[in-house]
Amino acid sequence: MRHPIQPEEGKIMEEEYDVVVVGAGPAGSTSARIAAEGGLKVLLIARNIEIGVPDKCGEFLPTLEEMRRLAPDAADLEQLFDPPGWCILNRTRYVRFNFNGMREITVPFRGVVVDRKLYDNHLAREAAREGVEISLLTSAIDLLPTGGVLARRVGERLEIRSRLVIGADGAYSLIARRAGLPVSRDPLDYSVGYQYEMVDIEVDRDYVEMYFDRRYAPGAYAWIIPKGEDVANVGTGIRPPYMEKGLNIRDYLQNFLSHSPASMRLIRGEATAVKAGCIPVGGPMDRTALGKVLVVGDAAGHTLPTVGGGVPPALICGRIAGASAAEHLNEGGTLYSYEANWRKQIGRVLENSLRLRRMADLLLGSDEAMSLAARRGWIGEEMLMRLILCRMDYKMSIVEKALQIYKKFR
Ligand SMILES: Cc1cc2nc3c(=O)[nH]c(=O)nc-3n(C[C@H](O)[C@H](O)[C@H](O)COP(=O)(O)OP(=O)(O)OC[C@H]3O[C@@H](n4cnc5c(N)ncnc54)[C@H](O)[C@@H]3O)c2cc1C
Repeated sequence: MRHPIQPEEGKIMEEEYDVVVVGAGPAGSTSARIAAEGGLKVLLIARNIEIGVPDKCGEFLPTLEEMRRLAPDAADLEQLFDPPGWCILNRTRYVRFNFNGMREITVPFRGVVVDRKLYDNHLAREAAREGVEISLLTSAIDLLPTGGVLARRVGERLEIRSRLVIGADGAYSLIARRAGLPVSRDPLDYSVGYQYEMVDIEVDRDYVEMYFDRRYAPGAYAWIIPKGEDVANVGTGIRPPYMEKGLNIRDYLQNFLSHSPASMRLIRGEATAVKAGCIPVGGPMDRTALGKVLVVGDAAGHTLPTVGGGVPPALICGRIAGASAAEHLNEGGTLYSYEANWRKQIGRVLENSLRLRRMADLLLGSDEAMSLAARRGWIGEEMLMRLILCRMDYKMSIVEKALQIYKKFR
């Protein structure tokens, strides 16, 4: 661990906590709530002016039934995947994939589109109702050598002492880096998302649309996620190493708006919000707990690398983080149970998703590979269902092997 900050630099908060949770996204609020339910004194710090603001999200979540198929080993999903009606803007029934404007395949997969600001607020309120204290406009700037964090709150420096720190501070987590946890520096392990909330466009409320095409989403995909009759989140994801020189991510979104098969439906639209952010797509970190620190959610690489969806794993792992913190501090066990538990409940899904993302990289990065896949019938409804549900069965393993051989000899 690095300890560059001297204690006298910060004003010491009189209160001492069992746990300080850094970041009030889904992972932070969920872990804070569960830790408080376990009898711990918890402080949740958020640098935001308001929880959930700014949101950077397509706002799509699988329904409870789909989560049961996606993460069959995760416990008590019904306690996590039942957002209140007032957070839900739309319910979708299908995902439509489009490959290079040439091939379109639709698969049944149900989801809810939530208002992320309301949803994050709801999760933080649930935490507060369990006794979690919340400190807004408070940024963690380092870990304290004796336990806790050094933070800045409206111009003053605070030493917030605690027995444990939960880093739920999102992609490229400061807490993970300061704790010496193995944060990836490989640019291929990060996707950047850039999205407009658009109005006055033609959308089908039942369909989430995903467009795979290097011209507007190199290394990832572009999307349309319907929020209402004529409103949707329209965005693109890219991975920087795949970008063409001289183009920035706004250019890619503009390409999508102007030159994709969806253009005619989007052309009249106006953007009412811009949302952008980084998404870890390199799979979970090899180690997510060290000393008096554990990390969770995007901070730990708990996202589905295939689609960049991070809210479901943040909720599942957030609950495990809170419970492990309570067990560790109340009963004195090691934090190893945290690592072991999230791997047991969702580790396989995240690892499969990473393998599938690597397969997709090979396919989408080359027209030859795409035509090989088309000839062999690898891109069909059955395969895409496996992709969505992160299933690496025998058939997928054969395709994976074939793609690896293709890569070696091309
Ligand atoms: C454009 C885009 C679209 C996306 N669409 C979807 C989608 O449709 N569905 C889906 O499931 N996922 C989606 N994601 C991913 C999803 O948003 C994240 O995976 C999810 O928010 C992770 O939750 P989290 O709690 O780990 O982190 P976050 O939600 O990122 O929360 C981290 C919080 O920590 C705060 N913080 C950071 N540093 C500090 C600090 N030093 N001190 C105090 N606070 C700090 C941040 O301000 C933030 O509030 C999308 C991401 C992007 C960028």
